[in-house]
Amino acid sequence: VTRAHLDRIAAEDGALGAYLHVDGDAALARAAEVDASGTAGTGLAGIPVALKDVFVTEGVPTTSGSRILEGWRPPYSATVATRLRDAGTVMLGKTNMDEFAMGSSTENSAYTATRNPWDRDRIPGGSSGGSSTAVAGHLAPLALGTDTGGSIRQPAALTGLVGHKPTYGSVSRYGLIAFSSSLDQAGPMARTVLDAALLHEAIGGHDPRDSTSIDAPVPAVVEAARRGAGGDLAGLRVGVVRELGGEGAREGYEQGVLDRFAGAVALLEAAGAEVREVSCPSFGLALPAYYLIAPSEASSNLARFEGMRFGIRVGDDGGRDVDEVMALTREQGFGPEVKRRIILGTYALSAGYYDAYYGQAQKVRTLIGRDFSTAFDGGASGGVDVLVSPTSPTVAWPIGARVHDPLAMYAADLCTLPASLAGVPAISVPCGLSEGLPVGLQVMAPALADDRCYRVAAAVE
Ligand code: GLN
Repeated sequence: VTRAHLDRIAAEDGALGAYLHVDGDAALARAAEVDASGTAGTGLAGIPVALKDVFVTEGVPTTSGSRILEGWRPPYSATVATRLRDAGTVMLGKTNMDEFAMGSSTENSAYTATRNPWDRDRIPGGSSGGSSTAVAGHLAPLALGTDTGGSIRQPAALTGLVGHKPTYGSVSRYGLIAFSSSLDQAGPMARTVLDAALLHEAIGGHDPRDSTSIDAPVPAVVEAARRGAGGDLAGLRVGVVRELGGEGAREGYEQGVLDRFAGAVALLEAAGAEVREVSCPSFGLALPAYYLIAPSEASSNLARFEGMRFGIRVGDDGGRDVDEVMALTREQGFGPEVKRRIILGTYALSAGYYDAYYGQAQKVRTLIGRDFSTAFDGGASGGVDVLVSPTSPTVAWPIGARVHDPLAMYAADLCTLPASLAGVPAISVPCGLSEGLPVGLQVMAPALADDRCYRVAAAVE
């Protein structure tokens, strides 16, 4: 199985650009080791997996898509990488991504653009676009991504995959190069709901090395995926978010996406679900709130990249002092989107502006969390079990179409940001094609009810 995927990578990845690093010999040696252990064929043993380059992997080059980390080989591995190895998987390589996971198209990678296997002139989504192309193009059966504001769900939607952002804190962030620590979460990308669930169970669960890790059992997502596959959702209460593709928001959504979404909702009803529209009035403010909170945290997290400890160092020729070397390294090591975020975040956190920007954004975040609680707990009108929306307002767009328009790029995250800000789980599952390109249905559930996402996704798959 490993060799078949390596052959396919050799044949196709020159054109697709899914991987930043592949070590075929290491993968084959590892596969032979699993074969010899006699566990091959049980669980995920012997199954190849691709990892987004945001996860540190001991001795294996890790860049987070940035020039500043070129050549760095981490001295340790992320908990999720260790858990996958313990499960007997074979790492095929590290996948391309927007630099430090900032972007929605993978065009912000310092190394290469990644192409969508459905139409090679289009983007594969982002920031986990290398992972989405690897799995959609059959260059890996499974991949790990990370989702801060949509980076698992949106690329999954745009390449016809299943992608799940777990409940914040339910999958370890140890060894995940931090972008926005209060939002970052690792999760599975796969071609079926059951595959995603198997990967999820292998990586989830408490980790004492992550201070925000939740000490709770992994939700029974594999069982939920199997149960949902029967297609019976009798009694399940589904809320269509009015502000996300419901009656309250039509602007910015492609008609083909709205049609496929309506088709998916009809399918849920046919499966016995009780569907109603639910209003979440603060969701419309998720975009500005996210684009203050995420850059603020990023400006702090990225301070560690100064050329002294990791990756490249620029201008250290004896004639410059340390501040000049740090400044030159950051100037040449970071790309334009990363610099934009650092500047935005530093401004939003600065004395005199903190209350006006960061403080306000945090208040909006609280209101979004309340919208979810109201929808799920219900009050007088009774709550819903899950909320649904399109995953992305559009299908995959042509490479280059949004690179000079950051706001158009940010608008791609319209539907995915509320669940990120509230920390609740959300899955994207394919729900048909529009003009030959995949459309995704997003299913959001209360914190720690990830199994509901899998059950509903399996029913419409
Ligand atoms: N597109 C969003 C951003 O650029 C989300 C990225 C992510 O989830 N890592 O910040």
